[in-house]
Amino acid sequence: MSRRRPIVAIDGPAGAGKTSVARALAERLGWLRLDTGALYRAVALAARERGVDWNDGPALGRMVSGLDLEVEAAPGGRSRVRIDGRDRSDELRLPQIARGASDVSRHPEVRAALLDVQRRVGREGALVCEGRDIGTVVFPDAELKVFLTASPEERVRRRIAELRAMGVQVDESAMASEIAARDAQDSTRALAPLRPAPDAVVLDTTDMPLERVVELIAAHVARLSGGVAGTGTGPDAG
Ligand code: C5P
Repeated sequence: MSRRRPIVAIDGPAGAGKTSVARALAERLGWLRLDTGALYRAVALAARERGVDWNDGPALGRMVSGLDLEVEAAPGGRSRVRIDGRDRSDELRLPQIARGASDVSRHPEVRAALLDVQRRVGREGALVCEGRDIGTVVFPDAELKVFLTASPEERVRRRIAELRAMGVQVDESAMASEIAARDAQDSTRALAPLRPAPDAVVLDTTDMPLERVVELIAAHVARLSGGVAGTGTGPDAG
């Protein structure tokens, strides 16, 4: 691949901290950030509104190819996602859409269509990309691959806190079963299952504050060859 600058792939299960870590790291490096879960969530939301069944791969594939889907890859803030020109970012966070994302993401038609979108964003590198299959499928040549985990209890706690901050009240046991069901489906699917790439750095973040996780990953980035770790630090910077 001919990109000039590196890609950091961050994979892991729901609630492991990928989004917060990717955002903080991208801001620190001044790189782009892509939340690929938001793309699968957008497909689920669009399908629900168009009456397309989450289990119908071919129909989903046809829908995605005609979908006006825009995703912002700015380093900071929330990843904004627009469907048909309308910002739907907040609705994408709802638990029922997360479940739909897990359902639609099993289909090869959907994964193939979204693969192009993701690779286009990574063309130039300088990207922190988070998801489930970034280090294994989307960017198998990423210069740094990180697999974030945390205990199931901690992951449930984080998801509830995230939703509460948005004003959405959720029941703890419902959230625990939602996350367990999604983990099981994401890890056992035939295509692009959730698993660490063989060359991934695996970090258990259960007892780690966000800043510490970001610090550790930033140290790995700084060690990448060529000293291109951030804006202003290397010959390729800028
Ligand atoms: O990361 P997030 O919780 O937003 O992802 C929602 C769902 O999208 C996941 O449970 C997974 O099924 C799917 N997904 C995926 N591949 C990715 C990112 C997300 O299959 N790279």
